[in-house]
Formats: sequence, C-alpha cells, structure tokens
Amino acid sequence: MKGNCKGLVILVGWLLLTPVAVAQATMEENPPSSEAEIAQEDVMIATESERPAPIVIAHRGASGYAPEHSVAALAMAHAMNVDFIEQDVVLTRDHVPVVLHDIVLDHISNVQKVFPDKKRPDDRYYVLDFTFAELQQLDLTERRTAAGEQRYPTRFPAGRGKLKIMSLAQQIELILGLNQTRGTQTGLYIELKNVRWHKQQGYDVIKQTLQVLGQYGLTDATNLPAPVILQCFDPEVLRRIKREFLLELPLIQLIADNSWNESDIDYQTMLSAAGMETLRNYADGVGLWVDQVYLGLDEQGQPQFSKVVDYAKAAGLTVHVYTLRADELPAGAESYEQLWQWLTDIGVDGFFTDFPDRPAPRVSDTFDSPPSHDHSNQEEDQSLQSDNDDID
Ligand code: CA
Repeated sequence: MKGNCKGLVILVGWLLLTPVAVAQATMEENPPSSEAEIAQEDVMIATESERPAPIVIAHRGASGYAPEHSVAALAMAHAMNVDFIEQDVVLTRDHVPVVLHDIVLDHISNVQKVFPDKKRPDDRYYVLDFTFAELQQLDLTERRTAAGEQRYPTRFPAGRGKLKIMSLAQQIELILGLNQTRGTQTGLYIELKNVRWHKQQGYDVIKQTLQVLGQYGLTDATNLPAPVILQCFDPEVLRRIKREFLLELPLIQLIADNSWNESDIDYQTMLSAAGMETLRNYADGVGLWVDQVYLGLDEQGQPQFSKVVDYAKAAGLTVHVYTLRADELPAGAESYEQLWQWLTDIGVDGFFTDFPDRPAPRVSDTFDSPPSHDHSNQEEDQSLQSDNDDID
C-alpha cells in the first residue's frame, strides 16, 4: 500500500517537473554508483529532448459533453482516462464546499423557479444564501447566458438531465472510488474561487476546502491516495496555503486578463519574465489563458505566440493552458487538433479542456489490467459577478 502511495507522489512530481529537473534531482540525490544506474541515467538524459505528452485536465469534468461539474461530466472524464479532473470550489450557507464555477446559481440551475424569493437586491441568487440541503432541491443544468440562451448551443440540452449540485466530498469519493475500480490514479485539480469575497461575507474557503481534503488524506503530500493540485487566481491564497497551512501540494497560479476584473492584481506584470521569477517563490506552475499564449496568424498565415511560455519555463514553472474547446476555437485555428499541436510544440505541459477525449482517446496505464476482484488482493489494488464564464 505504501509503495502505491509513493508511486502516486512520484507521478505528481513527473507531471509537474520537466524531465530535465527530474533527471537533475535524481542525479543530485543519488549519484550513480553502478553501471546499471549510469545506464538508467543515460536513458533519462536521452529523453530530455523529447518532452512528455501534455497532461489532460478535464475542465469542470468532460463539460463539452455533459453539464459542467455534474456527476455525469465527472464520470465521463474519468472514463476518458484524463490525468486530472477539475473542481471549482465555493461555499454554501452552512460552510459546505460545493463544486460550482460561480458564486451565483443563476446560469447553471433552475433556482429562479424553485426559490424565486431568495434573490438578492441585485437579482442574483448566491450559493452562500443556500444550505447544501436546499441546493439539492435544484436541477444542475447546462450553462446559459445572461440572456437565457444556451452558452454553447451544440452541447447538452439545457434544462434536461435532472442532475444535482455536488459537494467537494462527493466528487472526491467518486474519483477515489473509480480510481479503485478502474485501477487508475486520476487526480483532483482544485480551484479555490473568490476567496476574498467569501472572506468579506465571513466565510473561509481555504480552511473549509483543506478540511475536506484532510478528511480523505489529501493534504499529506507524502502519502496521497490520489494526486492533488491546487489552483487560484489570487497569489495571496497560494502564499497562505504554503506558509500558513504548510502544504506541500503543487500550487498553480492562474493568470487572468486585467479586463476581467478578477481582482485588483496586475496580471499583466505576472506575464513578464520578472513576474514569472516572482511567482516561483510560491507557485510550482502557471495556468495561462490561451489568448495570452497564442496571438493569431500573421500575414503569411503562420501562428504567432507570445514569449510567456518561454518566460515561465526559464523560471522553472510548469505551464498549463486554459481552456481548449472544440466548439469555440480562437481565430486562425482550423481545428482543435491543430491548436493542441501548436501549443504542444511550444512547450505547454498540460491543457484544461472541455473535450478531454481529444485530440485522441487516451489509454490508461493500468486500463488493461483492472484490479483483481479476489478479496485477498484488494488492499494491494487499491469571477465575482462576471458573466465571463470562460475565464478558467
Ligand atoms: Ca476553474
């Protein structure tokens, strides 16, 4: 059992560190002492020029196919053998961390019909005004725009499905359970949402989220039951997690566009070489908006890229890009596959995607050998108000 857990920790390390860094770290800690070890070292150095394939992060689950953050989107993503499934976390009135992208329910539920009187003076329905039990009375639906139109017209039909809002604990139990039955090591990639706003209302997203993670052993980086990455747009949150809560989990600084008014932080500064060096003090990587990386086509029809990936790599940071959508490509990209390849070629280490089965169906390392059902072997087997929902 311990061996398995150690393997998971190593897996996270491999996912986050470049092969160069891993090889160097390996060499520094364990100088080769035999011919066999030297041969192994040669193998590692030989593969330095061949970067591992980017990791796949199911953005709000397989949200291109089923309503975001629903049990269906989670289970589909797991079956697609993704590396990580994303959870956005906000709090309920009774302090339960729930998996929702926004602090309001307006665009992803039938709250207006079920609780017409619970809207605030700004006509919004805040998750924080509902207990978890009350949220269970709602249907979780495909996302709509403020005008009431389906946000992505070709996706899951709005108002169908009778799906329910899930707590973070429910998603953790489902992922850990599916990891066991399918023999996989699918990870959790958790975003702490609107932490400052919650704090103004007297709620602590960090504390409540880490408490739930702790209940499942997901805060002890040396003995994790599944890989975990934490992400946030607010650098102060990540610094607190590292310095106050002393967590060793990988931390990803998400970088917004200043125009989104995500916070009073100047994200443009973060995108510079000096900004990336500063992030290195507390973060293991960055989550970049695709438009911060890919700039469109030049007059010859060639894709143009900013230098931000180079800056991040020079600072030793892992680079994940959000969000790839087959049904909403940036200008100039002819296909999802082309965009994927362009970004992979310039060194992106992972993608948040609504379509985690693309560009090609993924095969799990352990998929061909599901865990034994012999009982004796079981142990071994074992934005604040923004309507811009595209921000991460
Ligand atoms: Ca997110």
